[in-house]
Amino acid sequence: MDFKFALIGYPVQHSLSPWIHEQFLERTGLNGSYMLEEIAPEQSFAQRITDLRNRSVNGFNVTVPYKQKIIPFLDEVSDGAKQIGAVNTVVNRDGKWIGYNTDGKGYVRSLCEQYPEISQNKALKIAIIGSGGAARGIYHALVTEGFRFIDIANRTISNAEAIAKLQQDQTNTMVLSLETFMQAVPEYDLIIQTTSIGMKPNQEQSIFPTDVSFKPGSIASDIIYQPIETTFLKRAQKQGALVHYGHTMLLYQAQYAFELWTNRQVPIEGMAEQLRRILEGR
Ligand code: NAP
Repeated sequence: MDFKFALIGYPVQHSLSPWIHEQFLERTGLNGSYMLEEIAPEQSFAQRITDLRNRSVNGFNVTVPYKQKIIPFLDEVSDGAKQIGAVNTVVNRDGKWIGYNTDGKGYVRSLCEQYPEISQNKALKIAIIGSGGAARGIYHALVTEGFRFIDIANRTISNAEAIAKLQQDQTNTMVLSLETFMQAVPEYDLIIQTTSIGMKPNQEQSIFPTDVSFKPGSIASDIIYQPIETTFLKRAQKQGALVHYGHTMLLYQAQYAFELWTNRQVPIEGMAEQLRRILEGR
């Protein structure tokens, strides 16, 4: 069988997904290809999606700005993606298009792969900074995994409150302003930075001031992967925190998508390091 995968979004030319999925194909011994389908805003989205259907792709990824726009074109949406309100992976199951969201689950996998003890301690005190699409997926995955204390800090409180509504009875969530959160940083075991502050070309920026202390042994995680060593992570490391890098989330969300498309487990040993070298060379 020749698998056909694709990525829709705008822009997508610099996406690393083709490299990742071609590696997965090679590592699983499957044949196939992964194509970039850039859909510019002036193009007809419906027409391009019809073209994709006619080409009988086995599955595709969806990135900005189409993670919500794709939903009316799907035959089914998984419960998780419905709750998150965004789809980043579509599986073609016997002609039926089913939408999933692999971002949050991929994030949790990447974190637990590096720090396995995390999955054993559902009472960890976790803070998510930011309340965009990525934060929503991560919050949903952490709640689903049974973590019981997950606070959300954001510039716009109403966006954080909208995410906190996804919580189940067993999870306690406080919504905080960024200012209040900064006072409470030493209380957290895991801090997940999901805002776009600190992304290239503004890598010198950080949502964290220089003088914030972290709880000893806590983990600072940044989902930004350009650069990999963000100013936030550098500051956290200086304060003694352990770190978790954003490029690993990119890898594991893709691994989960590949599993959904092919029903195959992918060995990914060594890929995070390779991906890091590619990103650092950009
Ligand atoms: P998004 O939906 O646009 O959300 C952006 C978030 O950043 C919002 O919470 C926004 O706050 C906050 N923000 C932006 N500028 C700010 C500022 N000047 N001050 C304070 N807060 C600010 O973006 P997203 O899709 O969630 O993505 C966020 C980041 O994650 C991006 O850098 C993206 O590249 C990265 N990402 C990485 C992966 C991965 O696989 N590693 C996956 C997805 C995304 P308000 O709510 O107040 O507007």
